Amino acid sequence: MLPGDGVGPEVTKLAVEVLRSTASVFNHELNVEFYDIGWSAYENYGSPLPDSTLNGCKSADAVLLGAVGDPRADELAPDLRPERGLLSLRKELGCFANIRPSRLLPCLSDASPLSLEIVENTDLVIVRELAGGIYYGEPSGIVDNGDAAIDTMKYHRDEVARIARVAFDMAMNRTKKVTSVDKSNVLSSSRLWRNTVNEIAGEYPEVECSHMFVDRAAMELVMNPKDLDVLLTSNLFGDILSDEAAAVVGSIGLLASASLNKDGGGMFEPVHGSAPDIAGSGTANPLAAILSAAMLLRQTYSLELEARTIEDSVESVLEKGLRTPDLDRGTGPTVGTETMGSAVSHHILESQIAK
Ligand code: NAD
Repeated sequence: MLPGDGVGPEVTKLAVEVLRSTASVFNHELNVEFYDIGWSAYENYGSPLPDSTLNGCKSADAVLLGAVGDPRADELAPDLRPERGLLSLRKELGCFANIRPSRLLPCLSDASPLSLEIVENTDLVIVRELAGGIYYGEPSGIVDNGDAAIDTMKYHRDEVARIARVAFDMAMNRTKKVTSVDKSNVLSSSRLWRNTVNEIAGEYPEVECSHMFVDRAAMELVMNPKDLDVLLTSNLFGDILSDEAAAVVGSIGLLASASLNKDGGGMFEPVHGSAPDIAGSGTANPLAAILSAAMLLRQTYSLELEARTIEDSVESVLEKGLRTPDLDRGTGPTVGTETMGSAVSHHILESQIAK
């Protein structure tokens, strides 16, 4: 468990509570170890990813992360920033595939900023390449005595092929449609991306593969989200589009994600960041962290029933009308982080009484 910074510790506290309730209902033993990452790790250890954290994560079955980031880190050297700690951890754990489902819950149709006709039945998943691209490319840094800066967007064919296979495999269990997102009209790395995706598409004759420029994808997400199913993206494009997809279905405070390695294990983390603007106010939505914990149980231990119980409990408390402020569209009243998270835990414990 890496609570991290800002709202990270607030929302992961509730995710752990939900895991404990689930473990007790289903008679599982749960061992949770806590480690620092990001700004909190820098303050305590002088590094955003101390060895103790890295070793703890490597020896764990799975990692559940809150979020990293703190405005006080803005002046730090790039290698000491909280976000660098997270990027290094993902790399060290071999997490190359980030799975970000975005589904509109019927009871939350009023939380979307879009009209019901546009958003209803939206159910898509962004499959984002996580270990390459512009966040890792070299050279990178400030040059020309501070007058210029370089970032490098480099992809190797093998990196594209492995994430494409994740997307096509996922599509086989959904509606057999993959939309690959690129900017191949301008970027060489995107032309390699598109050619490679087309090659891999040949291995999946049942899956319909189409391509979309990223600017068009940004538009389609708010105009026709229900027409999208599996969106295959590079690291940078997926980072941006998934925040947009989150807003479409209600709030970034709802969106869970899994960052997987080649063995299918890895890290589970909400899509949102440390939200310094609301940290400490007790109003952050804990559901993204809680739903990330559900993904962890399903992916790491194949505990489908347990994961479903958590997801159903989340849906149930939302159906009862509980809303954190990010989900409120003026109909109020709203509840805080603790009340929302504890309501999910109680619902899980009640399901035991009902058995
Ligand atoms: P953010 O996701 O932290 O916040 C964006 C907006 O969403 C804010 O208005 C925030 O209040 C709101 N929000 C986020 N999570 C919420 C929740 N659980 N409940 C209710 N509202 C929520 O993105 P940002 O403001 O661009 O970045 C803040 C910091 O987080 C930066 O340091 C950034 O680098 C970092 N960040 C970290 C991660 C990560 O740890 N995976 C991801 C994105 C950003």
